[in-house]
Amino acid sequence: MAHDESARTATQARLVIRNIGVLLSGDLGRPILDADTVVCSGDRITAVGKEKDVDITGAAVTIDAKGTALVPGLIDSHVHPVCGDWTPRQNQLGWIDGYLHGGVTTMISAGEVHTPGRPKDVVGLKAMAIFAQRAFHAFRPGGVKIYAGAPVIEHGMVEDDFKELAAAGVRILGEVGLGSVKDGKTARQMVSWARKYGIQSTIHTGGPSIPGSSLIDKDMVLETDADVIGHVNGGHTALPDDQITALCERSTRALEIVHNGNERAGLLTLRTAKELGQLDRIILGTDSPAGSGVQPLGIIRMIALLSSLGEVPAEQAICFATGNTARMRSLDCGLVAPGREASFVLMDKAQHSSGKDLLDSIQKGDLPGIGMVIIEGAVSTQRSRNTPPATRVPELVR
Ligand SMILES: [Zn+2]
Repeated sequence: MAHDESARTATQARLVIRNIGVLLSGDLGRPILDADTVVCSGDRITAVGKEKDVDITGAAVTIDAKGTALVPGLIDSHVHPVCGDWTPRQNQLGWIDGYLHGGVTTMISAGEVHTPGRPKDVVGLKAMAIFAQRAFHAFRPGGVKIYAGAPVIEHGMVEDDFKELAAAGVRILGEVGLGSVKDGKTARQMVSWARKYGIQSTIHTGGPSIPGSSLIDKDMVLETDADVIGHVNGGHTALPDDQITALCERSTRALEIVHNGNERAGLLTLRTAKELGQLDRIILGTDSPAGSGVQPLGIIRMIALLSSLGEVPAEQAICFATGNTARMRSLDCGLVAPGREASFVLMDKAQHSSGKDLLDSIQKGDLPGIGMVIIEGAVSTQRSRNTPPATRVPELVR
């Protein structure tokens, strides 16, 4: 579905979403709000509350949620985009639009590493990062926001390179360890230069993903001290259990669990973080497209997996892919609160799920059915073409 950019950016039109059955905030400290109505102006949330207490007049668009749940737009913390809505890894078109139908409204690149002929010289890698940042800023399949332009550090980079990248609009590094820098000392130096100029970092954790990449163990991860411990559960090959628990215990950085990793290691990470009282560090990604393909439903599959097998209430598991990621990544989406980005997923339990309601169905391991996705105050899609059908779906009143 084409997204109308001009309509989205040109107006401050009011959007009212009413009759929300359960309002999930994305905030781990208070995941369920006692509210049934959200009001937005343009791309921002302006009010959240009970319908009788908020001003719902003057709406350009009203959505009757029909008792479904409202969740902040999901964030995929780990994707590998290349160019447009095409991935050469599996030679697939339209993958980003597919993820929109899985409730993803924001994606963060962990490096455009599948680019055929990816430049590895310093000038070339900087040029590619700036190109990717610009291109994905301007091109949003289905309205999905893609933070891309994530250079992979290589030997020979100096402090001025990071300064120059930051000045050009680059805000994230690709996975440390996918380039020629494979020692903690050099990586730590480059990550600290990046941080100095406001560029966030992430590191590949575990065994090699594909021929040509290599093992990064806990010592390298701890020494590098990147902002995000990328795929702490391996991508796919996980570190031994004692190394994963050491990363949970000895670092304070984000613990990113990915779909394309080792599920058992993901559950170990979750349990360890829970024991430490640090569930606020858990963030979710797919680490796709990859050797195991494209996963439009990857993030909701992670939520259902961690909630059901990891025994975490569904409303908390949803925070891993929303408020937690937004906080760890310094984004202004991921929470349903005034002033935040007006991006939402309306969902309900899937038809014929044995769960008694949406949250119970996720805790039983079923995927939710998505009925509508809204990005920055504009409806991007109605009933998802990819999830199981939702029992109830919201209605666009006008
Ligand atoms: Zn990786």
